[in-house]
Amino acid sequence: MHIDSPENKALVGLTAAEIDALFAGFQQPSYRARQVYKWIHHYGVRTFEEMTNLPKPFRAELAARFSLQTLQLATRQESIDGTIKYLWQLAGGQHIESVFIPEERRTTICISSQVGCALGCAFCATAQMGFLSNLSSGEIVEQVLRVQQDTGRKITNVVLMGMGEPFLNYSRVIQACRIMSDPEGLAIAAKKITISTVGVVPRIRQFADERQPFSLAISLHAATQPLRQSIMPIADKFPLDDLIDSAVYYTRKLRKRITFEYVLLDAVNHSLADARALIKLLAPLKCKLNLIPFNDTGLGFRTPSESKLKSFVDILEAKAPFAVTLRKNRGNDIAAACGQLYAQSAADEKPRFIAAKTKATGMV
Ligand code: SAH
Repeated sequence: MHIDSPENKALVGLTAAEIDALFAGFQQPSYRARQVYKWIHHYGVRTFEEMTNLPKPFRAELAARFSLQTLQLATRQESIDGTIKYLWQLAGGQHIESVFIPEERRTTICISSQVGCALGCAFCATAQMGFLSNLSSGEIVEQVLRVQQDTGRKITNVVLMGMGEPFLNYSRVIQACRIMSDPEGLAIAAKKITISTVGVVPRIRQFADERQPFSLAISLHAATQPLRQSIMPIADKFPLDDLIDSAVYYTRKLRKRITFEYVLLDAVNHSLADARALIKLLAPLKCKLNLIPFNDTGLGFRTPSESKLKSFVDILEAKAPFAVTLRKNRGNDIAAACGQLYAQSAADEKPRFIAAKTKATGMV
């Protein structure tokens, strides 16, 4: 078997203790596992040969039994604004996407946590795929490692805002975040790793109880239960009041701020009444509101005009007791913006339905 044979068990995304358990038969001192863990996650090496503090014969044994990566690059598209979208093929043949977003002082990666998504938000392209599977912790971590290797840039910020619902793949996502934030792992500051959830209430409470150091974002998108139910089926299961209660619980227990995301859908959720309801709903919370102009997914929604966007932002900025930001739209020409990720398999070449339309909107 050669290095990175798909049959070999991948070590990426495993903790040092898990690697140690796999090394049981090798008659090596137990610190070997931590060395290998660090080579993979901290130094990002791509071959066992580069692990120079390991005995040569041991490196060869490892190469015969294990692999260091699982993702195969299927396509890479670079936007005129420098955003890069990666389509990865998993060992099982399915596809996921990650997006690299370079800025002057930081480099952000938006990564996927599942293949497809079960939640069915009416405006989101990923929802169209349905749920296919959970990613392993290795497949989550590897997206960051591979993009660092490809771009030669150290990632400073990670957002779990790609395909899937991170809180429906909780334990693997948390393990991946721990490895990303570990100083011996990818050494990314824990608070610069943001998990975005649709609002899986029990997992928000668990995240608070475990005092997880990562940042939390909640996709709100509507300030009343009937409106939220009409665009986000999850609201049937976890009503808005319960969601807000869990958010209050988190902010009080951890004394941390939550970011609420609010996608602006033309004629749906940006009236004066919506602004008032939003202020009333979020006023008791330590939070920030991140407004996201809708990225066209061809699903029957439209992006509000710039003047409508501006008036909604103006009301909130004048009246809201919390910070309000309007998200910049990046990578639209390659359909890499929020909610546009839809990973096709090679066998399923439907036309990509987004790029042409959104290019013309020239939003923010
Ligand atoms: N399942 C997680 C992560 C999903 S994507 C969650 O729901 O938070 C990250 C954000 O993009 C979410 O707030 C999601 O609602 C939003 N989004 C989805 N489709 C969008 C679109 N077409 N335009 C703008 N934002 C969108």
